[in-house]
Amino acid sequence: MSFVVAIDGPTSSGKSTLAKIISKELGFTNIQTGAMYRSVAKILLDNNIQIIDIEKISEILGKLDFEFRDTEDSQLVIVNGKDVTSEIRTKEVTDFTSEVASIQQVRERLTQLQRNMAQKKNIVMEGRDIGTSVFPNADIKFFLMANANVRIQRKIKELRENGEDYNYQEVAESVYKWDKDAIYRSQGALKRAPDAICIDTSTLTIDDMKNIAINQIIEKQKQIKSLELEI
Ligand code: C5P
Repeated sequence: MSFVVAIDGPTSSGKSTLAKIISKELGFTNIQTGAMYRSVAKILLDNNIQIIDIEKISEILGKLDFEFRDTEDSQLVIVNGKDVTSEIRTKEVTDFTSEVASIQQVRERLTQLQRNMAQKKNIVMEGRDIGTSVFPNADIKFFLMANANVRIQRKIKELRENGEDYNYQEVAESVYKWDKDAIYRSQGALKRAPDAICIDTSTLTIDDMKNIAINQIIEKQKQIKSLELEI
């Protein structure tokens, strides 16, 4: 049976960083579900498809093929054979993703693909609704948070690294909107699962964050093993 680590939390709370380092440490497959929603948004933008055009969207969803390919220091996102890793990280795509992610058909299809990915492999999956909706029975769940100022600064840095320069106010407004959209969507809303372990990453170093999570995972794996022995 595969082991599933679910990581949820709002924008720039540290999910991707944590998912990347713990998947490497544990030898698990890292699945960035945000990249999947971003990719759908990018395809709709490129093909000028409106979010009300459910017929065309369903057609695209039916043909979607994702691959997360690990490299030495990063992970490539390959969609329908094309590397979209950096083009799905622009602010334009992020803004539109928030809307695309509220389309019921999109959530259903991506949830189905996400569940399929965990059938044979141990995975670390990060997103907004993993511990609540995609894998409510995940072996271990983390919910990450950080104060708003820290999250805005992280997002500004990420956008700059991707060649986009926005000021604090612009990014603050966007982060607020992305979070609000995620919290209030009717399906797959951002919500802490009652059994999720909360980590406030505002003042933690990456190493601290990693150690907290890894210790919890090791503890959980021991518990599962001892239960299996009893049976
Ligand atoms: O995690 P990331 O910032 O890449 O996610 C981009 C967007 O995708 C989020 O703002 C959110 O609207 C959407 N998303 C989602 N459900 C997930 C992961 C991401 O709705 N599981």
